[in-house]
Amino acid sequence: MPETATSRAPATGPLIDTFGRVGSDLRISVTDRCNFRCTYCMPSEGLAWLPKDEILTFEELTRVLRLFVRLGVESIKVTGGEPTVRADLPVLVRMFREAGPDLDISLTTNGTLLETLAAPLAEAGIDRATVSCDSLLRHRFAEMTRRDALEKVLRGLRAAEEAGLTPIKINCVVIGGTNDDEVVGFARWARDTGYEVRFIEYMPLDAQHAWEREKVVPARTVLERIGEVFPLVADGGSAEPATTYGFADRSPGRIGVIPSVTEPFCDSCNRMRLTAEGQFRTCLFALEETDLREPMRRGASDHDLEGLVRDAMWRKWAGHRIDHPDFVQPERSMSMIGG
Ligand code: SAM
Repeated sequence: MPETATSRAPATGPLIDTFGRVGSDLRISVTDRCNFRCTYCMPSEGLAWLPKDEILTFEELTRVLRLFVRLGVESIKVTGGEPTVRADLPVLVRMFREAGPDLDISLTTNGTLLETLAAPLAEAGIDRATVSCDSLLRHRFAEMTRRDALEKVLRGLRAAEEAGLTPIKINCVVIGGTNDDEVVGFARWARDTGYEVRFIEYMPLDAQHAWEREKVVPARTVLERIGEVFPLVADGGSAEPATTYGFADRSPGRIGVIPSVTEPFCDSCNRMRLTAEGQFRTCLFALEETDLREPMRRGASDHDLEGLVRDAMWRKWAGHRIDHPDFVQPERSMSMIGG
């Protein structure tokens, strides 16, 4: 297999790393801005937004996407920050759809703007929506997100269903002593609505660096608590990283867990990320990034960009080490990376 000049990364074939993992899923952050201030992600104020000229333009984002499609990416997630606050998002989605007619394109959103945007986004080419929701109690939702917006999110969810952005997935970050008493309530909600509720372990990716190991509620604890009330059966039907379960009594809805801290799934990770300002990251916890924006703005060819991406992928590390004493938290918060 031919190799690129700067490394031993294969110059053709799929995007592969030295452990044989293939990058087939790209999370594209379209903005670092967010209209929430979730306590486990962002400070209440003071996080400076990137200047507009540092954010990739629609044309730049689409050019990068086209390259990744050529390199074998099969699914993308449009994320942020809060992706729906990027002006004219449906226009960008349409450009993405044209660049990848067969791509699985999903949106990760807090849902606040879906009431008006779900239909245009579906029409432009989004296939599915994942909506974050950490509490079904109005006061707690407001405390966790620092915005009193639960009703708006629920209306957004209904709009997403009507627009056909299904199956709807819900992302719920479980934090010990904050919302872990709601996991059974969320399971009941999944049964009532048919949604797949995915419980995410709390990760050290908050801007304030206030994460505490003691507040991580292991995925298996979540499953045990739900299973005592609503017995579950593994259905193995969902792609990584969530392990998914159906209800034993065949009720609608599903439960997923994303055990990033207690049972990392690095061995089978197929994910890559592009930040809003064009930094390519091969791991959520990566300490190294590869700049694609400056080369693009200096006139790099697609071949040059491909070399940068292949080399970065080849350097992908074995996995993050959250549970190890030498773990170093990345400078960027989840909102700055693109979750
Ligand atoms: N704004 C969009 C949303 O709310 O889904 C997309 C970006 S948000 C950063 C993506 C996901 O990351 C959300 O589900 C959020 O709850 C999750 N997240 C943020 N900080 C986290 C942390 N410290 N640990 C675990 N998940 C986190």
